Amino acid sequence: MTDPIKLTNLARHFERGGMDVQALRGVDLSVEPGEFVALVGPSGSGKSTLLNLLGGLDRATAGELWLNGTALHSATEADRTLHRRRRIGFIFQSFNLLPRLTALENVAVPLMLSGVSLAEREARAKALLEKVGLGHRLDHYPTELSGGEQQRTAVARALIHNPSLILADEPTGNLDSKTGEEVMALLKELNREQGIILIVVTHDEEVAAYADRIVKLRDGNIVEELVGSGRSPDRAGMWHGEDAGHSAENADSPNQKNQGNQVNLRSIKGGLQFSDIIRQALSNLRRRPVRNVLTAGGVLIGIVTLVAMVSFGVGVQREVQRNFESIGLENLFVRPIYDEPDVFDPFAEPAPQTPITPEMVAQIEQLPDVVGVTPELQLPFSIDIALTYGDTSLPIRVTDGNEPEFNFGNEPEPLAGSFLDSRATAGTVLVKGVADSLLAEGESYDSLIGEEVVLTVQLPRGEMETFTSEIVGVRDGFGGSIIELGLAEREAILAWWFNEPNFLQTEGYDSLTVQTTDLGAITAVSTQIEELGLQTQSLEAILNVANQVLGLMQALLGSVGGLALLVAALGVANTMMMAIYERTREIGVLKALGASAGEIRALFTVEAAMLGLLGGFFGLIFGTLLGRLVDWIGHRFLIAEGVTGIGQLSVVPWWLALGSLAFAAFIGVVAGLYPAARAARLDPVAALRHE
Ligand code: ADP
Ligand code: MG
Repeated sequence: MTDPIKLTNLARHFERGGMDVQALRGVDLSVEPGEFVALVGPSGSGKSTLLNLLGGLDRATAGELWLNGTALHSATEADRTLHRRRRIGFIFQSFNLLPRLTALENVAVPLMLSGVSLAEREARAKALLEKVGLGHRLDHYPTELSGGEQQRTAVARALIHNPSLILADEPTGNLDSKTGEEVMALLKELNREQGIILIVVTHDEEVAAYADRIVKLRDGNIVEELVGSGRSPDRAGMWHGEDAGHSAENADSPNQKNQGNQVNLRSIKGGLQFSDIIRQALSNLRRRPVRNVLTAGGVLIGIVTLVAMVSFGVGVQREVQRNFESIGLENLFVRPIYDEPDVFDPFAEPAPQTPITPEMVAQIEQLPDVVGVTPELQLPFSIDIALTYGDTSLPIRVTDGNEPEFNFGNEPEPLAGSFLDSRATAGTVLVKGVADSLLAEGESYDSLIGEEVVLTVQLPRGEMETFTSEIVGVRDGFGGSIIELGLAEREAILAWWFNEPNFLQTEGYDSLTVQTTDLGAITAVSTQIEELGLQTQSLEAILNVANQVLGLMQALLGSVGGLALLVAALGVANTMMMAIYERTREIGVLKALGASAGEIRALFTVEAAMLGLLGGFFGLIFGTLLGRLVDWIGHRFLIAEGVTGIGQLSVVPWWLALGSLAFAAFIGVVAGLYPAARAARLDPVAALRHE
């Protein structure tokens, strides 16, 4: 079998300020299985550079680097990532534990990056921490550990995935000599018992004394190779807990050799799991609560605006539609076509080209698909009418009972008698207030039905005329001076008013409501009516226009929220850039431990999406509440104005709720795209040097 590590003429040059820095000038080196090699040499001699090349963090400029049969010098980025994830354990001078993770979680990170389940990896990390004597520090954060404890945690982390090669860059450099000794003893034992190849960069001769071989570098060249003393640890038994070789975990047993470990590692499939990405993103968001809440606040404002505004659009549209439908979409409005007003007599009433005569109404009633025709006759706006019953006389206003305000909401029941139905030609319906004025104490509305009232109409020039009508019903309603009047009475009043005995023949009805069998019949019926010389209008056409106007309004209002979200997106991007700057070193550590560029990108993208989602979630809640509040205030106002029967105007349908959340997350993702790509692109060697 060939040597597990073989370097031939390996060189690494750097460009710095236009100068070529030769960190390694063509190094030849072979390492045998189970060997412990110490790399020594003055500062700047290329030790770290060599270690980074072996770890697959960096690429050689020239030469060959073979590791367990893999040509690392020509490996792709993805292959080098896999190499780090599966074969390498890194130990750094400054420990490089992830600050927001406990000792246990830190040790488990390499397994997390390999997609091992949470339960399994924590069990394995716990066992390993107990072995390095830190069973009582599992839930401590790095800042709560001494230097020695941190480095032992880092050793456990380097070991957890059964690597075939451990690379340590001055592992004792930040430790006092006694603690340093302990850590070296631990590493030496690993090397001896598990046969893991150990390459340790050191300044310390004491440390180098543990090695089987000492390789001396100077100016990027190997200048000397010494056989080390291979000193054994002074203090045996750094493995606490159980006897080496009798471990419960068969595959991870310390006396298993590398070959076995390799097989075990290959069985680990997949990388960082989505659930872990979510968990990490959440824990990262908790590190900067104030900053992140403020950033999410920007998204919140945008989403509040959007949700409140769209909810009104939806609610108003629904209410309009509901009211139109209660009137009936299958109805057609028919009006005469009027002559152009006389320019020389602007006060003249425009005359209809074809009056809607009773004969014409009968003709329309005979058309196929027509269910019924309701003619309307409006009394002049300026007419003065007084109603007299017994001794009581009061001024009144006449409606025809078809005014929209009375049709909103549910049709009320008559208080007595019946309503004027559209076919009834004569009669009077009193509104409650009028009936109350006519009744003596204790009399019921029913006593009015069938009674005759006298209507006194006065022309502006003073002439008066009286008309009689029979009370047919009493209904609920506002005001104390409103009556509904049948067509016969209206016709009589109009004929006298305009002094035209044949009023319906010459002027005709003002308009007709033609009810058809269904919506589909509208077009055919309206064509036939138009052929009679009349104009028609359907509610559907009006509704379409109303919908268009509302849609436009929604788009306009939505764009206000959109603008707020654009600003919010800049906030998210800014926050993510800051987070990445702060965590540059951690990104380097994650990459060294085997995270791929794609996984780093996913981590930050999900974090940004969650920032957006956080704002979206609360924006949805506040937006819904705001809509309800405005709705409530609006209804108080309308009720004070006498308008009732209007439904909820702010409606948040499921698609708006889901859509706003998705949109908020999308804003986060888009805002996080560039920062996440920056993080993914970071060079791990440079990132690890970042302070
Ligand atoms: P050592 O670890 O032995 O102290 P290094 O391997 O870190 O030395 O560095 C070897 C040489 O390469 C030094 O002169 C250093 O300045 C240079 N060097 C290392 N990394 C870079 C880099 N990214 N860009 C430019 N020069 C570098
Ligand atoms: Mg160095």
